[in-house]
Amino acid sequence: MYRNLVLAMALVWGALPAMAQTIAIRAGNLIDPAKGTVSKDQIIVVKDGKITAVGPGVSIPKGAEVVDLSKEWVMPGLMDAHTHVTFQEIPGKAPFEAMYLKQSTAYRALEGVHIGQVLLNAGITTMRDVGNEADYACVELRKAIQAGWVDGPTMLCAGKIIGPFGGQSKGMPQEIGPFWLHEYIDADTADEIRKAIHQNIYYGADVIKLATDNSDYFYTEEEIRAAADEAHNAGRALAVHVYGGKAADNVIRGGADSVEHGFALTVDQLKLMKEKGTYLVGTDFPEAHLAGLNPSNETLADAKKLGDQIIERLKNANNVGVKMAFGSDTVTVLPGKTRADMVFDYLAIWKAAGVSNADILKAMTTNCADLLRISKERGAITEGQYGDLVAMPGNPLQEIESLRKVNFVMKDGKVIREVK
Ligand SMILES: [Zn+2]
Repeated sequence: MYRNLVLAMALVWGALPAMAQTIAIRAGNLIDPAKGTVSKDQIIVVKDGKITAVGPGVSIPKGAEVVDLSKEWVMPGLMDAHTHVTFQEIPGKAPFEAMYLKQSTAYRALEGVHIGQVLLNAGITTMRDVGNEADYACVELRKAIQAGWVDGPTMLCAGKIIGPFGGQSKGMPQEIGPFWLHEYIDADTADEIRKAIHQNIYYGADVIKLATDNSDYFYTEEEIRAAADEAHNAGRALAVHVYGGKAADNVIRGGADSVEHGFALTVDQLKLMKEKGTYLVGTDFPEAHLAGLNPSNETLADAKKLGDQIIERLKNANNVGVKMAFGSDTVTVLPGKTRADMVFDYLAIWKAAGVSNADILKAMTTNCADLLRISKERGAITEGQYGDLVAMPGNPLQEIESLRKVNFVMKDGKVIREVK
């Protein structure tokens, strides 16, 4: 009741940041995704946004609000290492670029508020947004969330995507000019890459994102190394969009922290990633998403081929033992599905590739936190971590699709969604 009153006041006065209050959660089944284990009947105490105690015999502080999740399965908040919340592909047959030409940065930021809330309500409490945010719409959204003006996941943002000339557009007429600069920075030498990274960091980027292979030319190993050094010097990770081939060799050998997509990676390349500790953020699209809104016989055949290739690559990565962080890359709109529904569609792909439920949960929490460099703060339910946790009526270690039924969400110690 007290919280409802505070929430009502917040509506009048404007949203408040995480409230200074103590919440004690009775967790019937507490999952530790780092170990794949379950502890029964635990008490979790969250104070001023952070977890202060966890255990079976922890006493409930006087005056604490008690949340009863004794019949639920509780685990750390879910993470997605490859989102685009300020980007939705315009339904229909409009080209990818239509989005830059028709939508302002302000519109994109508001779109991000909406999509971020859909994801947060479904249990995704942290996301790494890897570009396509017009003029830093994601950074502004992150600031609004941090200020407590709107609810949303904890966000790490990439700013503009850095790539060799042309962004992610192909074959545009010369007279139109470099319109992609609304979303991308052209950088064609190591020095230009360094400058682009400085620009992104200046405007608020938390992670550096390159897209290397959108044309027949791509970054050399030395250029990737320059990007990795520059990012690492500034305490940021380097994420690189690449599918495979020589471009992927350069990305792995040059020291990127993660390969994004990597649909065409060979077993030898996956072995090299394992050796170098490179993460795979596989963005393992289901075939139905690839087929999209207006499938023709040709696109359906292409979707089937790529869908099968993605499952095969995920199977190989899992067998080789590459570090994997969950990343969705969902940007299309399918009728009747929310952005969160579409993210959870990837679970079936991970299952089809033979990844165990315990490893899927680890990829969505522990591993993401490691790649995002936030393991000390998020990704586990232990003393000192932020109060980011979710609960659901079924056991996701037994049935991974239970994640679709998340009915309790806490972020930074604030209850976002309560069990009804
Ligand atoms: Zn992407």
